[in-house]
Amino acid sequence: MVGHRASLAGAMYRACQAKHPNITFHFGHTLTAITSFSPPTCTITPRNDSSAPITLTPALILAADGIKSVARTTMLAALDHTAGIQDTRQAAYRIMLTRAQCAHDAELLSYFDADAVTRWIGESRHIIAYPVSGKQIYNLSTVQPDTHFAAATNATYTTKGSKETMMGVFADFAPVVRRMLDLVPEGEVCEWKLRVHEPLPTWVHGQMALVGDACHPTLPHLAQGAAQAIEDGAVLGVVLSLCPDASPESIEKTLRVYESVRKERAETLVDIAAASGRELHLGEGKAKKERDEAFARLKAGEGKVPDRWADADVQKKIYGFDCMKVAEEEFERLFGEAKVARERMEVG
Ligand SMILES: Cc1cc2nc3c(=O)[nH]c(=O)nc-3n(C[C@H](O)[C@H](O)[C@H](O)COP(=O)(O)OP(=O)(O)OC[C@H]3O[C@@H](n4cnc5c(N)ncnc54)[C@H](O)[C@@H]3O)c2cc1C
Repeated sequence: MVGHRASLAGAMYRACQAKHPNITFHFGHTLTAITSFSPPTCTITPRNDSSAPITLTPALILAADGIKSVARTTMLAALDHTAGIQDTRQAAYRIMLTRAQCAHDAELLSYFDADAVTRWIGESRHIIAYPVSGKQIYNLSTVQPDTHFAAATNATYTTKGSKETMMGVFADFAPVVRRMLDLVPEGEVCEWKLRVHEPLPTWVHGQMALVGDACHPTLPHLAQGAAQAIEDGAVLGVVLSLCPDASPESIEKTLRVYESVRKERAETLVDIAAASGRELHLGEGKAKKERDEAFARLKAGEGKVPDRWADADVQKKIYGFDCMKVAEEEFERLFGEAKVARERMEVG
């Protein structure tokens, strides 16, 4: 099943409103500072008006503030750790074509109607594509060498790209791919810089835990970045429901259980995604010859697929693991073993 992120986020928001009316959502605020991790204390600043920043002291902070996470940066500074952003030297175009845009081309329409994900690969580049939104939109995500962000600061993640450049990057790909790319209106080419992060020493400090890309940004080659953020949320739901009381010590130990269940698994998938990119992007040579022979054998119905995302063992690792069940079964033991840190909780 393939879903669009906006549909998923909207559905989760509506479900929360319907099933948990006691949850209050506050939108339009930016986390601008964390001044203590125990008791957790943070400042949020309204984005759209000039009202004063608000200081909060919640029971816990779950920081899902993405790859540019303020919470992660503040936590690492408090721990005197220097883990930083890693440049992957890769960038991505993200493209969505509507059925109406492709109506004139029967071959393009056949991609909307196939219940299939299609991958086109070439040296240093690949494209993955599939229909979304009830087959009304065809979603393409490319990966190519980064040439536009090389001189940019770490804070730059997206840029308007040139259509001519995009067509040039994929000039030697199949005609059907070039026809798809050519439908992107001039001025609407959006390019993303792909960055990852060195593994962090911890995801938890005091009563704050990092969630999602804030702690395990993942290259898109395995389609697992957001999926792993969802596993984080699912495990947090289980462990917090089992937390015996609301004392700071119990909350911190519970967040340590979350980390124990999630960190190693997420970091393994981060590594597999990176390895998958290296194999997809092989240039001329022995390794590429062997990979292409494996694809040929697969077409003839023999052997393993040399694309890790489609490999049965990798899929079993990804989809055969019930993170909520493991969290529930292991909670008592991991909670008993969890240690509470008591140093450097205040920032500054
Ligand atoms: C080209 C590309 C293709 C991808 N394809 C896939 C795929 O097929 N499958 C998949 O599972 N994943 C995919 N991913 C990865 C996926 O997009 C991310 O892993 C996912 O969005 C991470 O979710 P998140 O909630 O942790 O972070 P984000 O989606 O980055 O959300 C972070 C949120 O925090 C907000 N925020 C940031 N800073 C602050 C602050 N200081 N205060 C308040 N709010 C803040 C941001 O505005 C944002 O709304 C892809 C990524 C890329 C770049």
